[in-house]
Order: sequence, then structure tokens, then C-alpha cells
Amino acid sequence: MRVVVGYTVLHPRVVPAIVRQGYEPELVDCTGDDSAWPRLLLSLFEVAEDVVIVEHDVEVRSGIFAAFEACPHPACFHRYRVGNQSWPEAFGEKDEEFGAFMPLGCTRLRAEALVALRVLADDPTFTETWVSRDPPMNAVLDAAGITKHRHPEMLVHHHDYSMRASDTPF
Ligand SMILES: [Zn+2]
Repeated sequence: MRVVVGYTVLHPRVVPAIVRQGYEPELVDCTGDDSAWPRLLLSLFEVAEDVVIVEHDVEVRSGIFAAFEACPHPACFHRYRVGNQSWPEAFGEKDEEFGAFMPLGCTRLRAEALVALRVLADDPTFTETWVSRDPPMNAVLDAAGITKHRHPEMLVHHHDYSMRASDTPF
């Protein structure tokens, strides 16, 4: 299972939290190129090797990668706070284990999900911006009937909301 971190402003707690669990993250610098992040995602879909996507300001917790490895579902994710909002406020959902909105802060995708997501390579709007690439991915998985499985632990989101969006896109 690969662990990939695309970043512009990498929070210092992100990599140590991954390494503590015995994984060496692949760090991909997305600075200065609006299409770098969606192109990185498309490359993961193409390779279709089981992967955890960790955003550059999300601190994972002990044991969650082992749980990702063990869980059979094709798409698994964790919750975290978004701005001052709780999870249901931010994502407009009930506290459901399955079928909920899947953000990309800490998400494990297996080949079945990654192959389904390849259709986004044919959508030129996907690489036009780094902003919110998770809604189109959710739409593809929903249309493909692929279950999104939410794991219970809340992760720490170190996003600095005082920064300009252009400085820290995800
Ligand atoms: Zn799962």
C-alpha cells in the first residue's frame, strides 16, 4: 500500500505521523502549478495500485493504516474538522458509516475504485483547478456503485485558514 502526500505547504506533523506507522510517504511537490494536484490524482488512477492519499495538513493517528490494509472496501476514509465546522455541518450529511461524502484528507483507494476513477482523465475540467477535486471523484464512485466506507477516528486537520487559498490549496 502506497502513501502519497501532494503538498504545497507541508505541515511538520504530517510526515512523522505517517512514518511512525511504518510507512514511507511519497512526497509530491505541487507548488506553483494549479494542475499538479489533479494530475497527480490521475496518475494514481492510472497505476491503480492500492494507495492512501494524505493531504499536506492532515495528521494521521496510530493504527489507521493497518485498519486500511485490513478493510476489504474499495474506498475508505476518515473524518476531520473543516474550518470551524463539525463533520456533518461541513459535509451536510448524517453520521453514516457507508455512502457518506469522501474527502481526500486521508483516503485509501483500492484498484477497483482507482480504475473506475480513470473516466476523469477524459474530463478536461478535472485538471483545470486544484480546488475540491473530491466532489467529482465522489460522483464517479457513486455512479459506479462503489461503496465509500468511513472509518470512525477523527483526524487532526492543521489547515491554517488565515492563509490565502492560493498558498494552501488543500
Ligand atoms: Zn474501510
